[in-house]
Amino acid sequence: MVGVGDHLADLDPEQLAAVTAPRGPVCVLAGAGTGKTRTITRRIAHLIDRGQVNPDQVLAVTFTARAAGEMRSRLRDLGIGSAGSAAGVQAQTFHAAALRQLRYFWPRAIGDTRWELLDSKLPIVGRAARRAQLATSTEMLRDLASEIEWAKASLIGPSGYEQAVIRADREPPAPAEQVAQVFAAYEAAKIDANGDRLLDFDDLLIFTTQILADDPGLAEEFRSRYRCFVVDEYQDVTPVQHGLLKAWLGDRDDLTVVGDANQTIYTFAGARAEYLLNFSRDYPDAQVVRLVRDYRSTPEIVELANRVIGGARGRAAGTRLELIGQRPPGPAPRFTEHPDEPAEAAATVGEIVTLIDDGVPASEIAVLYRINAQSQVYEQALTEAQIPYQVRGGDAFFARTEIRQALREIVKASRAAEVAAGDGLVDAVRLLLFPLGLTPQEPSGAEAKSRWASLTALVELADELLAHNPALGMGELATELTSRSQAGHPPTMRGVTLSSLHAAKGLEWDAVFLVGLTDGAVPISHAIDTSPEAIEEERRLFYVGVTRAREHLRLSWALARNEGGRRGRRKSRFLAGLLPTCERCSSNLLGSRALRTGRCDSCSGDGRPARTGAPGTGAAGRAATLPLGPADAELFDSLRQWRASEANRQKKPAFTVFADKT
Ligand code: ATP
Ligand code: MG
Repeated sequence: MVGVGDHLADLDPEQLAAVTAPRGPVCVLAGAGTGKTRTITRRIAHLIDRGQVNPDQVLAVTFTARAAGEMRSRLRDLGIGSAGSAAGVQAQTFHAAALRQLRYFWPRAIGDTRWELLDSKLPIVGRAARRAQLATSTEMLRDLASEIEWAKASLIGPSGYEQAVIRADREPPAPAEQVAQVFAAYEAAKIDANGDRLLDFDDLLIFTTQILADDPGLAEEFRSRYRCFVVDEYQDVTPVQHGLLKAWLGDRDDLTVVGDANQTIYTFAGARAEYLLNFSRDYPDAQVVRLVRDYRSTPEIVELANRVIGGARGRAAGTRLELIGQRPPGPAPRFTEHPDEPAEAAATVGEIVTLIDDGVPASEIAVLYRINAQSQVYEQALTEAQIPYQVRGGDAFFARTEIRQALREIVKASRAAEVAAGDGLVDAVRLLLFPLGLTPQEPSGAEAKSRWASLTALVELADELLAHNPALGMGELATELTSRSQAGHPPTMRGVTLSSLHAAKGLEWDAVFLVGLTDGAVPISHAIDTSPEAIEEERRLFYVGVTRAREHLRLSWALARNEGGRRGRRKSRFLAGLLPTCERCSSNLLGSRALRTGRCDSCSGDGRPARTGAPGTGAAGRAATLPLGPADAELFDSLRQWRASEANRQKKPAFTVFADKT
């Protein structure tokens, strides 16, 4: 733990410049592993130390619950987190921050109308799709739901949708006209006959922005509460989040952002790296700091990462930062080709067993893949080897039988009289989950172990939530857990991590296995079919994967899907130029044997030791231009109209805050 006053220790000169910059706009543009998250947490601590801001006036936001949790734990280590007291720095996701604010504002801004958080878009989208005579396969409904999310994140309403699709050069999942119909029907269906309202995740941000924009009294109250704003992973900000941030700030500029344009991996969901890259256009007085020293990974991994991003085309090519490794040398990254996926999984788990035997904790090992469906073969192989694991991303954690049962038990208990709150809450939860398999000691047997590990993670999550809000009762706990489950934000577990590349952003492990690196997976086939820009986003995703590893990096792919299947796959195009080659005959030295012996099979065993090849050459791309269409006022307008009609129905002025005060 860093003591108070030590907040400037262990910082390099560039990090120090960002940490000690005067209050006002600061932008840290930096590559992976250069200490961006460290820099912003230290900056907050430094401003507090100097008495320039109170801890409870700081709002730090990021994108995933895990990243927010990481920030909270670093703030706690610095002695300024919000644990155990309400008066600490708030570190939350955009959605959690908006949810909290909306709960607070709603009665005064909207009135008695009730609202509920929508747990899944799919049923409503399904009804709307049937009416628009579209196919209603789960895949299509998911695509339509994502499309609606993209539109709302981009502040595009149903009637602006068709134009926006053309502007963005986007492939909609169905003809744009029909998607727009589904979108309109979906929005209408969220208001029931009583006028009560279902809000989806995007609405949380849109409503909060709108209330702050329309209601000067509430905005002023909010702005006197929060004075200093910090955003991690700013390269993935969407227009709706950018709008909310502006609404939070008003005409102030006390904003620190950090990000890496080479890690923009959510363009398909509406992210705009331009907000990061054009920060000094938005804030001409901004102090801009660049960090290039990589403290996370060995120089071997850093070199590979530089090569991956060195092959970037288009916009990213102009923004890349060459990383300089700071750690001592480590093992060379390893590349292996397998006949099929089960063989790849078996070999991966074999290597995991060796690493664990060598003393690497299971929780310091991750297997990363492109799509969640790829986890299955690894889950099976790890279960057979009796190695505990957790699946991150998507809703896999909350879909587990024991977790669904546990949530049901917690909800049931919250309805019973004399339930514990505060200190006794976690013990009460533990007791509740005992019959489901949460024994005091870890049981034996792979299945019992796996149940136990996920229930333990749930209790740890409850503990974390309680640390954040010490007065939490069973009812609020049930609500918090349900909203986590709806947002697909699983807790941390001890064990090997299985994760999609997307869900791994911002995190780090000692050993990382990047698996399934075939063309069609990385880059994913629909990106290949869509555009060179989409392929560049896949390259950045690959870069995110490579830069998660501290020490051991293994990259692998399989030539067929099933055991004995037809060998129809090719290794990822992003591997071109990265594979180690023989200095003498230039053939690829694949597999650990050649690397271990330093001898090449192709030139009869007397070849020179392996070296990494020339920088990667990716698909040629035309210059990438990201669309920056004007924000569509329709979403705000429709909400405004609804709100006005609600106020009318309730015979209250729309801005009740003034009515209350007079
Ligand atoms: P990402 O882009 O992946 O989010 P990041 O830039 O946020 O990475 P951090 O997670 O803050 O990087 O830091 C990466 C690792 O390097 C962490 O383990 C951190 O503790 C360590 N680190 C950062 N700065 C320093 C430093 N000056 N000295 C020693 N270690 C450092
Ligand atoms: Mg980070």
